[in-house]
Amino acid sequence: MNTIYMDNNATTQVDPAVFEEMQPYFTELYGNPSSMHRFGGQVGQKLKEARERVATLLNCDPAEIIFTSCGSESDNTAIRSALKAQPEKRRIVTTRVEHPAVLSLCKYLEKKEGYTVTYLGTDEHGRLDMDEYKAAVTPDTAIVSIMWANNETGNIHPIEEMAKIAKDKGVIFHTDAVQAVGKVPIDLEAMPIDMLSLSGHKLHAPKGVGALFVRKRLPFRPFLIGGHQEGSRRAGTENTTGIIALGKACQLAQENMEEENTRVRTLRDKLEKGILTTIPDSILNGDKDNRLPNTANISFGYVEGEAILLMMDQLGICASSGSACTSGSLEPSHVLRAMGVPFTFAHGSIRFSLSRFNTEEEVDFVLGALPKIIENLRKLSPFSADKEAPACAKSFSE
Ligand SMILES: *Cc1c(COP(=O)(O)O)cnc(C)c1O
Repeated sequence: MNTIYMDNNATTQVDPAVFEEMQPYFTELYGNPSSMHRFGGQVGQKLKEARERVATLLNCDPAEIIFTSCGSESDNTAIRSALKAQPEKRRIVTTRVEHPAVLSLCKYLEKKEGYTVTYLGTDEHGRLDMDEYKAAVTPDTAIVSIMWANNETGNIHPIEEMAKIAKDKGVIFHTDAVQAVGKVPIDLEAMPIDMLSLSGHKLHAPKGVGALFVRKRLPFRPFLIGGHQEGSRRAGTENTTGIIALGKACQLAQENMEEENTRVRTLRDKLEKGILTTIPDSILNGDKDNRLPNTANISFGYVEGEAILLMMDQLGICASSGSACTSGSLEPSHVLRAMGVPFTFAHGSIRFSLSRFNTEEEVDFVLGALPKIIENLRKLSPFSADKEAPACAKSFSE
C-alpha cells in the first residue's frame, strides 16, 4: 500500500537534496565548528553558508539569524527575551488561534508569572479585526506575537500592517512564521518585524532544527546560557547537520515557491472543490481567498474527525484532525472554536496539507475514496441533525 501523505503542516519529508547536503557532516566532517583546527573550521564555513541561505530567503542579514532546536524554542526565546529586556512592561498581545508553542507559553506566563495577556479573537473565517488589534497594543505592551499563517486553516494574517502598527507604538513585534516560510514571500528588509520564528521540519529539512530572526540592535536576552555559540545568543554546540540541512531547504524553498503557488495550489483547489461539491454537509474552514496554497481544512457535519482519519488511514491516506472528542479530551480544535464553527462541524474537521511531493493521482485517489467513507460513517453516526448532541458538545458551548 502506498502512503498518500497530506499532513505537511504537521511535518514534511526531508527533500533528498537536503539529505544529500547534510550526510557528509555526520560521518566524515564531524568537527566542532568552534574548534581551532581546520577540521572543525570547515564545518564552521558550511554553517556560515547555511546562515546566508536562510538570510537570503528572508532578505535579512545573516548576523540576524540565530539557529535553535525547533520552532517552539524560537517562539519561547522571542517572547521571553522581550519580557526580560523590558521588565517594566507586563502585557503580551497575541491571538486565540496561535500554535501551542505561543499559546501555552502565554497561558503559563499569565498564570505563573502574573503577566497580562490579550488574546485577539477572529471572525467566522478566522480573520483578525484590525481595530481590535490597534486598541489592544497599549504602551505597557512588551511584545506582540502573531502567527504569519495558521497551521490549521492556512489563514494568512496581515503581518506587515500589524508590524507597522506595533512599530508606531514602540512595541516589539514577533511573528511565528513556521507555516509561512517557503510558502509565501517574506522580505524582512521591507517589513518592520523585530523577531521571526521558523522551523526546519515544516519546510523539508529534518526535525530538531529551527531559527529565530532577531533584528539588529533589538535588545535581546538569551534563553540558553553557556558557550559563545550563535554570537552568545544561544549556547550549545551547533546541530551542524540540521543547520546545514535547513540552509539547503531554504535555498530550495526559494526555488520552489513558484511551484508551491501554482502546481500545489492547483492540486489543493482540485481536492477542495472535489470534496465540497460531492460530499453533502461539508464546509470549508478558513479564509477562502487569503490562505496558504497547500492547506484545506474541511468540516464534515455529523461525523467524528478521528473516525474519518482512521478510515483514511486504512487506505494509506495521512491527514489530520483538530478534534479529539474520543481521545479523552473534550475539546475540539481551539482554532475552530475561536472561529465559532458549530460543534457538529468542528468535531468532523479534517486538515489536508499538501507539498510539492504530492501528485494529481493522489488527489484523485482521495477524491475517489472519501465520499464513501463519509457516507458509511454517517450511517453509523451518533451525531446527526435529529439526534442529541454527544457529551463533548457541551464543552464546546462554553
Ligand atoms: C509546527 C509549528 C510550530 C512548532 O515547531 P516545532 O519545530 O515543531 O517546535 C510552531 N508554530 C507553528 C505555526 C507550527 O506549525
